[in-house]
Amino acid sequence: MGAIIMSGREVAAEIKGELKQKVAKFNREFSQPVLTVILVGNDPASETYVKAKGKAAAEVGIRSFLIRFPEDVSQAELIHKIEQLNKDPEVNGLLVQLPLPRHIDVQSVIDAIDPRKDVDGFHPLNVGRMQVGKKAFIPCTPFGILSLLKRYKIEIQGKHAVIVGHSHIVGRPMAALLLNENATVSVCHVYTKNLKEITTMADILIVAVGKKHLITSDMVKPGSVVIDVGINREENRLFGDCDFESIKHIASYITPVPGGVGPMTISMLLYNTFDAVQSQMKELTRV
Ligand code: NAP
Repeated sequence: MGAIIMSGREVAAEIKGELKQKVAKFNREFSQPVLTVILVGNDPASETYVKAKGKAAAEVGIRSFLIRFPEDVSQAELIHKIEQLNKDPEVNGLLVQLPLPRHIDVQSVIDAIDPRKDVDGFHPLNVGRMQVGKKAFIPCTPFGILSLLKRYKIEIQGKHAVIVGHSHIVGRPMAALLLNENATVSVCHVYTKNLKEITTMADILIVAVGKKHLITSDMVKPGSVVIDVGINREENRLFGDCDFESIKHIASYITPVPGGVGPMTISMLLYNTFDAVQSQMKELTRV
């Protein structure tokens, strides 16, 4: 029997449908939530992501603005803009599309974002709050994966979750979220020895590396849940980090690429933006 294909596209549409209703009610009673995205340079993948975010925001009734800077913008100028947007009460959610050019220190830019508007969940305050299990903006990709697991009613508690990749935007926050759900978590990276030995122990295998078909069927435990985060472009086609065609015969659940984790990421960004506007509104009414 083949694996159940976890359709991030369908679940993301459900989440957006729910959000659309909530946003419409909020619009009637208060104002339209605003998401501002800063894009530096013209990286084609970033252009695609930013466009997709704007389109999805419009679908649920969130207004979005794109602020562009040329590739050679200085770090000081970028941070100055962020500080202005932090102070602007009309801006509810704010994110800087990554990656940034090499001359800019990414962490300094992230640190400059008001944590209350940090809908990507990358600010150290949100990272720390998430680690201790407190309310925080959760990075959209791991948040999307957790939501997908929950919508498919995948049991997490007590399961061995193996994450391949330890980036700040996917692997590390994913590990924290799964620990908060009482999974036993292993995190692998480029220095991990005998990757296969560890991945074959996974009940839930999450792969976020960026190497086409790094994970082959012999690296997967039969009956496990396989979440493929990777996006690898080859001649206008997208491939994941997992060899979907062979693994789908072994796993119990698997996400496709495209149509798996990607759409979930964008939905969670909208979720976080709506969360931001609600929290900001509560703060205003408390004053
Ligand atoms: P990243 O920052 O480049 O991190 C990649 C991670 O993989 C690093 O921890 C790296 O370890 C590890 N790694 C590299 N080669 C490895 C190997 N052979 N075996 C084991 N681990 C290895 O990338 P990212 O931002 O996390 O993104 C990862 C992939 O997910 C990319 O394809 C990206 O496009 C995709 N992505 C998709 C979404 C989505 O919404 N679908 C969102 C975000 C990212 P070291 O740091 O030690 O080198």
